[in-house]
This record gives sequence, structure tokens and C-alpha cells, in this order.
Amino acid sequence: MFIDTKTQLFGIFGHPLSHSLSPRLHSFMFKQLDVNAVYLAFETDNVEESLRAVKTLNIQGVNITIPYKEIAFKLVDIIDPDADVVGAINTIKNNNGVLYGYNTDYLGFMDMVKLNIDNYKNKRFVVLGAGGAAKAIVYGLYKLGLSNIGLLNRTIDKAKLIQAQFKNYVNINIGNLNDSTALLSSDVIINCTPVGLNDNQTPIDIKYIDKKEVLDIIYKDSALILKAKKRGCKAVNGMDMFIGQAFYSFKIWTGLEFDRQLAYKLLKGNLIL
Ligand code: NAP
Repeated sequence: MFIDTKTQLFGIFGHPLSHSLSPRLHSFMFKQLDVNAVYLAFETDNVEESLRAVKTLNIQGVNITIPYKEIAFKLVDIIDPDADVVGAINTIKNNNGVLYGYNTDYLGFMDMVKLNIDNYKNKRFVVLGAGGAAKAIVYGLYKLGLSNIGLLNRTIDKAKLIQAQFKNYVNINIGNLNDSTALLSSDVIINCTPVGLNDNQTPIDIKYIDKKEVLDIIYKDSALILKAKKRGCKAVNGMDMFIGQAFYSFKIWTGLEFDRQLAYKLLKGNLIL
């Protein structure tokens, strides 16, 4: 592909961005599908100004990541109905100067569950964490047909806020991270905290995970995933969710579907760009 005056610009806004896999994935897929576009990382301190630049510079679309998903939700012109329930966006499409906000995290998470958890409608799910990502996960569980879930968080008031936010969608039993009753009665535990990303910590006592299925939305193997595997549990990291959210963002921007298997190979380092 040659860059010319028709080359479209896409990117990601967040802080920090040094570990983001999105530029590599989207750039590769633009090339693969012959789309005349580039995708860049914009590590910004000011998301409001950055979103004004999307209009001024006619940037065609952006992903939004930590810590701006909730602020950006309030700044775009039109919100997709599902994103409206979640209260956060990770994808923006610029349609002739009108910014449309979407949430594709919950879609990526739904794919992760469908791919990895058999008979998921009859299982009891417990979510760990009550941050921005946990909201998308709770909404994803609702969209998968679950009507009762558990949500455990270090700060109980934040768990209460999510419980109230989704009260018309799904019944959420809340507790703290050592709620033994909730943990022992669960089938699937989903880590939505950053604990174990760069250290050997786990968000809950590891004794609770025996015979459980464990999902972690961190896209590399966290301490929880490594320890769960060691104990013989089924344990899956967040790569399926990451590729899923990127797949739906890409489709919103281009109307095209990329090859997810190719995405896996690329991100596992088996493909050279
Ligand atoms: P966030 O809004 O900052 O929320 C973090 C949550 O983790 C809060 O509930 C916080 O509890 C809890 N937490 C943080 N440190 C903790 C600790 N030391 N002990 C116990 N709980 C702790 O973050 P987020 O946006 O929800 O993201 C969470 C994780 O999901 C990140 O690692 C992110 O990379 C990952 N993620 C992955 C994908 C994907 O596509 N795979 C997508 C989105 C996010 P308090 O409420 O008590 O502070």
C-alpha cells in the first residue's frame, strides 16, 4: 500500500499506550484487506481536545482506552443504544463530522464466553472488579441471557453503583473479594481487575478456584490464569475478547470482517508484518 492523499487515518486514544496491540492488529488488517488506511497510537493527556482533532483533521475512526472510555462517552455526538446502557465507549466513527460512539468490548467478551464456556446459560458467573471493563462484562452476560450474576469488588460502593446501573437488566449479587459463599457457589470466575497483570498477585484467594472455569480479560496470562492452570482448572486469558472487540470496531469503520485466526497468529508472534 502506498500512502497518498486518499489514505484514511484511524487510531487509538489512551494513556498509557506503550503496550497496546491495537496499532499492530489494525494496521496489519488494513494491509491484508487492501484498505488505504493507517492506524496510529495517540497517547494523549487531553481526550476532549483529541476528539476535536478527530473532526478537524477528518480522522475516520478511533478506539478509546484507559482511562477515557467513560469521558469519551459524554463527549461524542451520538451514542449507540447498547453503549448507552454500558455507559462507556471504546470505538468512535467519524461520519462527516458527526462522532458516533460504540462499545465493542461487550461484544468481544460475549464471543470469548461462547468460544470457551460450554453450556454457559446454565452456569453461575462471578465477576471480579467494578471498573469500566466490568460494566461491559455485566452487559455482555445480560446479552448472553444470564439473569443472575455475582459481582465482587474491593470497594463495595462501586459494586453498588453497577448493581443499580443494571437493575432493569440483570440481578447482581454483590460482595467483597473474599465472599466465600459467592465464590464457592460459582461455576465461572471472570477477573476484570488489573491484578496479576505485572505481578504474582491474584484478586481472590486461590483456594476458591478449584473445579472452576476461570476467565481473565487481561490479554496475556495473568497470575490468576497461570495458577488456575497449575491447579488443573480450565483458564483462558483475554485474547479472544481483545481480538473480538477489534473485529467489531474494524467492521464498524470499514464494513469488512477480518480473519480472526490470522489475528491470533499475528499477535502470538507467528506472523511477520
Ligand atoms: P478500572 O476502571 O481502573 O477498574 C479496575 C477495577 O479493578 C476496580 O474495580 C478496582 O477496584 C479493581 N482493582 C484494581 N486494583 C486492585 C487491587 N490491587 N486489588 C483488588 N482490586 C483492584 O479498569 P478497567 O478499565 O475496568 O480495566 C480492568 C482490566 O481489564 C485492565 O487490566 C484492562 O487491561 C483489562 N481490559 C481488557 C480488555 C480486553 O479486550 N481484553 C478490554 C478492557 C479492559 P476498586 O473499585 O476497589 O478500585
